[in-house]
Amino acid sequence: MNNEVTKAIYLENGIDPDVYDFCAKALDGLKERFEEIDKRAELNQLKVLKAFRDNRVSYECLQGSTGYGHDDIGRDTLEAVYASVFKTEDALVRPQITCGTHALALALMSNLRPGDELLSPVGKPYDTLEEVIGIRPSRGSLAEYGITYRQVELLSGDRFDYDGIRAAINERTKMITIQRSKGYQTRKSFSVDEIRELIEFVKSVKPGVLVMVDDCYGEFTELHEPSEYGADMMVGSLIKNPGGGLAPIGGYIVGTHECIENAAARLTSPGCGKDVGASLDVLRSMYQGFFLAPTVTASAMKGAIFAAAVYEKLGYETIPKAEESRHDIIQAIRFNDADKLIAFCKGVQAASPVDSHVTPEPWAMPGYNDEVIMAAGAFIQGASIEFSADGPLRPPYAAYFQGGITWPHVKFGIINTVQELKNKNLVTV
Ligand SMILES: *Cc1c(COP(=O)(O)O)cnc(C)c1O
Repeated sequence: MNNEVTKAIYLENGIDPDVYDFCAKALDGLKERFEEIDKRAELNQLKVLKAFRDNRVSYECLQGSTGYGHDDIGRDTLEAVYASVFKTEDALVRPQITCGTHALALALMSNLRPGDELLSPVGKPYDTLEEVIGIRPSRGSLAEYGITYRQVELLSGDRFDYDGIRAAINERTKMITIQRSKGYQTRKSFSVDEIRELIEFVKSVKPGVLVMVDDCYGEFTELHEPSEYGADMMVGSLIKNPGGGLAPIGGYIVGTHECIENAAARLTSPGCGKDVGASLDVLRSMYQGFFLAPTVTASAMKGAIFAAAVYEKLGYETIPKAEESRHDIIQAIRFNDADKLIAFCKGVQAASPVDSHVTPEPWAMPGYNDEVIMAAGAFIQGASIEFSADGPLRPPYAAYFQGGITWPHVKFGIINTVQELKNKNLVTV
């Protein structure tokens, strides 16, 4: 199709010719990047398909259960599929795990005991984990149960402080928590290779120490996952990458049999463990979403790279840069200006398939310390594998943008953010 035809459709959708041309130029030069992403999606797709075939997923598996959920073959098979894809002994994948924070809290609380210490060798964890750990005092935190916490800051250039980590590991250190994605920080996200090296290091200092990786937003962005390289647990949310945009709820923990049994005993009850927990009517979307996850993640990655290319061209600092390698689907853009951050989020909202007519405003979201603005017109409430943006209202006023279950949608959405900034006279193209 000729470029003028494409352009005419964008103009019909409220994009100015100069905004379209500016963004189209940013897209030139991303062709090779996109081919590489498609290649990775192909390999990850085959990995997932193989797990479905090897575990003999049947039509019956999609049906779900009620009540206690005893002998729920669909639930048990889905967990086997997750364990196959992530190459772990066992998995817990449940709608009763309400979100990513819950999955992480569950993994921590079920595998730590009073007197144990948790260590983060990668600096501050994700905002919501501050209350789980008790860095900010909170009802029911690990701190309330006498579980202590230490963290070692990253060195300049986001390098691991190996000497500091060695010094921080002591006889009480029971678990190491490693967050792959940057979350609401402007550090880089870690590659699987970097995480592998860190895991090898901490296990050499203290053999037997447990390692948990927070893999939120990281799944399927590379060919391998941290769970393949010595992590005892890897944890994530089903309304992010592995849910493929279809799972309506849920979290997962994959890992060693021992860690998963502990988590199951805490999620349901000692004695019941994995054997109870009805899957109701969500299994079909959990299976189908996981099946779609590799290509959905690829769409989101293309969107993130395009956003970086556009905003670099406009002169903003982006993390990561358009040409840098990617280890999650998050793109941060530093606006250094609250109005620009808000305008960006409004542009995302207005380009959404649901609630495009509403205006996002900053609010005090539970679990977060600062006011946060969130833009999401998603089919699943708060699903950040769907095209969405958010950012805490604090310097450097960075927008964290992620998701997009189809690449054409994210492409339009990003162009629309530039249009929104232009309408407010906040950028010139
Ligand atoms: C999203 C996220 C979480 C928490 O997940 P929720 O589903 O929002 O509770 C934890 N860690 C990281 C790195 C995340 O991106």
